[in-house]
Amino acid sequence: MSPVDLARYVRDIADFPKPGIVFKDITPVMAAPEALEAAVDGLARYARPLGVDLVIAAEARGFLLGAALARELGAGFILARKPGKLPHETVRAEYKLEYGSDALELHTDAIDQGSRVLVHDDLLATGGTAEALCSLAEQLGGEVAGCAFLIELSFLGGRGRLGRHDVHALLRYD
Ligand code: 5GP
Repeated sequence: MSPVDLARYVRDIADFPKPGIVFKDITPVMAAPEALEAAVDGLARYARPLGVDLVIAAEARGFLLGAALARELGAGFILARKPGKLPHETVRAEYKLEYGSDALELHTDAIDQGSRVLVHDDLLATGGTAEALCSLAEQLGGEVAGCAFLIELSFLGGRGRLGRHDVHALLRYD
């Protein structure tokens, strides 16, 4: 079988969510069985040698491939959510947006000390979200083993913000 060209399943949407932004829509990746399989397999190929115990991902698009990836790796999946959404006691990481700031929360008992954690999101842009995920994992004594994305918008410099961590993306837009 010929390899699946994942880029063909990523759709550019002009002026979303606001004028001047070209949004990378990944819903066609999720909708096509061959693309979904290729995305999970590609991320797993990167992550398997890292020997991770847990995958952490951010609400909401990070959940889509994140849980499937965790299952593929034989790892657990932990959810970082917007403030006030998680029912149990939480830790919090704040991150800067273009205008203002946002935050993600994680249950305090989500990570055992020393667990190896893979950070995942659908897309790496400025790196604020992924940096917050690293912070949440480390606040609870986890070790960030690597960061895996479907898409990297390299011109926004997110990789630089993740500094000392290993970063991998299946698709890169320069
Ligand atoms: P960052 O925090 O790196 O600036 O932004 C990444 C976050 O914003 C991710 O959680 C991602 O879901 C979302 N995001 C930003 N731009 C896009 C985009 O063009 N397409 C998709 N699918 N998500 C985006």
